[in-house]
Amino acid sequence: MEKDYNFKESESKWQDFWIQDQIFENKGKATYSIDTPPPTVSGKMHIGHAFSYIHQDIIARFKRMNGYNVFYPFGTDDNGLPTAKLVEKMNNVRFFDLTRPEFIELAEKTVKTLLPEFIEGWKNIGMSCDFSKPYSTISKDVQKIAQESFADLYKKKRVYRKESPVLWCPECQTAIAQAELEDKEKNALFSDIDFKLKDGGTITIATTRPELLPGCVALLINPKDTRAKDLVGKIAITPLFNQEIPIIEDESVDLEKGTGIVMCCTFGDVMDIEWQKKHDLPLHICINKDGTLNELGKEFKGLSTKEARKQILNKLEVKNQKQIVHSVNVHERCGTPIEIIVMTQWFVEYLDLKKEFLKQSEKLNWHPDYMQNRLDNWIKGLKWDWNISRQRFFGIPIPVWYCCGETILAKDFPIDPTTTEMICPKCGKPAQPEKDVFDTWFTSSLTPQITGEKIPMSLRPQAHDIINFWLFYTMVKSYLHSKKLPFKDVAISGFVLDPKGEKMSKSKGNIVEPKDIIEQYGADSIRFWASQAALGVDLRFSEDQIKQGKRTITKLWNASKFSLMHLEGYDPKNKGELQDEDKWLFSKLYSTTKEYIERMNKYEYNKARDLIDKFFWNDFCDYYLEIVKHRVYDTKDTGAQYTIYNALFSILKLYSPILPHITEEIYQDYFKQFEKTESIHLTQIEILKDYKTDFNLAIDAIAQIRKYKSENQMSMKAEVESITLKSDKKVEKYFDLIKNLLYIKEIKIDEE
Ligand SMILES: [Zn+2]
Ligand SMILES: [Zn+2]
Repeated sequence: MEKDYNFKESESKWQDFWIQDQIFENKGKATYSIDTPPPTVSGKMHIGHAFSYIHQDIIARFKRMNGYNVFYPFGTDDNGLPTAKLVEKMNNVRFFDLTRPEFIELAEKTVKTLLPEFIEGWKNIGMSCDFSKPYSTISKDVQKIAQESFADLYKKKRVYRKESPVLWCPECQTAIAQAELEDKEKNALFSDIDFKLKDGGTITIATTRPELLPGCVALLINPKDTRAKDLVGKIAITPLFNQEIPIIEDESVDLEKGTGIVMCCTFGDVMDIEWQKKHDLPLHICINKDGTLNELGKEFKGLSTKEARKQILNKLEVKNQKQIVHSVNVHERCGTPIEIIVMTQWFVEYLDLKKEFLKQSEKLNWHPDYMQNRLDNWIKGLKWDWNISRQRFFGIPIPVWYCCGETILAKDFPIDPTTTEMICPKCGKPAQPEKDVFDTWFTSSLTPQITGEKIPMSLRPQAHDIINFWLFYTMVKSYLHSKKLPFKDVAISGFVLDPKGEKMSKSKGNIVEPKDIIEQYGADSIRFWASQAALGVDLRFSEDQIKQGKRTITKLWNASKFSLMHLEGYDPKNKGELQDEDKWLFSKLYSTTKEYIERMNKYEYNKARDLIDKFFWNDFCDYYLEIVKHRVYDTKDTGAQYTIYNALFSILKLYSPILPHITEEIYQDYFKQFEKTESIHLTQIEILKDYKTDFNLAIDAIAQIRKYKSENQMSMKAEVESITLKSDKKVEKYFDLIKNLLYIKEIKIDEE
């Protein structure tokens, strides 16, 4: 072995080896299959990615060494809005400034340039996926799968097209789904606005959105409000726009908020839609798709909502105003407050299936189990069917045409209706192609089908921020297509926070790049750091803990170097004669390995690591190697050599899912010549023989003496005339060993 471990050389060497020698390629039938999250091509790998992908990779590597043929594919999610937004940003264009074919071409070109370096990020953390045939969600193969999914749902009457209020992002210029809403605290001006009553008098309402006055269709008051019996049934006049609107009672109006009387507009928020339906109110849509006021806005027509708000307030000469902080629905991709407008869209109908979905969720094995609540709460709170059509260019086309009042579904897939002519069977004329594309989740929810593995797959690993999206939609799709679960186990990783416990973000400038850490400390160190957090738990980034990983790696190198020095010329088939200290180490190894496997099988890799840390640092290095030094130095005792060989090899195997590079380095350097297996990652973790011994008594005695010496600031090699141990009398047979090891002349026992 080299004097020092060079992680830079070693890590890239083994990463190349794993790929070139196809160590992790899927061979034969999978007995453990992983539904790997395809990272969204929208920039580079961030620390949160590294964190959760390391968790799943530890599981994959362990399963491989525990008797499973592991199916661990890799793909990238490179269609739809997130990728399109990146393309816009990188090329400094908006999609609507180009033609559809131009933008698609630009997007495909951009993705192609980005992809190799993007995937490199995943290889660099030492992922053991099969990188030989990565899938891409915009590829023709995947387009076919997504369109066939749509066709199946169409035939099952689970998709429908309808004109209805939809959530609209004025920035991205597309409808979005409920899952894409995010609550954001925003400052707003809460203004009192007076409405004249038709038969005299005035009432006041408070609103943060006066620009919706032209869309106001009613005023609402809670029936418990003392003013209600006088006001309900009366007609109010909207200021500036002079519309006559009714005053209606509704128990959902918050008595405490504002003046207790509210506007119902078409549409300010989701509540307005409910009121509109419930009270059968007319639609007065006043906002355009680009977020400006339309002709209903009269003199304010063409102004942005923000500008219109300002000018309307000026003109109304509002007196009572206060600044409030309230929660606003924004688009999670761009942070823009959403509008609700009426449009024709495609939906997956599923609100009627909430109970079924809850049952499916219950059937999953959740790790950690409390994450089930997140999905269940999401399902219970669903208010909209799944809007799957997006008014964008880059994505998978919805494979239909329209003519003679009918929808014509394509028969061959993949297909782009905007470039393929379809003749209407009724009138014989060319039908109108659908121009919308699918929501990106419509496709990524098909990853089990895309990978071609049979469902249910064994494991879905992912982060908790996409439970409402990816996990939920995959479950929905699988249920609608086959009534089956897409996977059996779910492993949910937490987030990485900054050292103060705050969310990392570009704007706060507290982002840590995995690339920089790997550069400085190596991939094994970052993996060691990530492995300390249990599933579901958020972890603060700490450079100290990365350094702790580095220390473990150095210790592993030095302890191996020391051990292997004493194994020179040793034939591992030669068991020799085991002494009590050897048997003691084997008994420790037995319980460590056994519990390690149990923990790993429960996805408690962090607890598994604690076990191996303790065995390695404490039992092996601090005690065993010290105790047997003279046996291997002086006599090349084969019993000790046999123990060292097996313990060290086991230590390397148990560490290898977490620290795959250094363990491979030491394995290739020494163990491979005897073990023959091509890579340590293809060896099996074995529970070796357990032995009964009372050598624990000696260990306890050594600990007492070491403690005594360090408390008295003595060197471990300092001679001691006499010492009294608290111990069982049986320890006597180890007196010679203890005296030699710790330079004690006389030992007495205090049996109390
Ligand atoms: Zn947006
Ligand atoms: Zn026709």
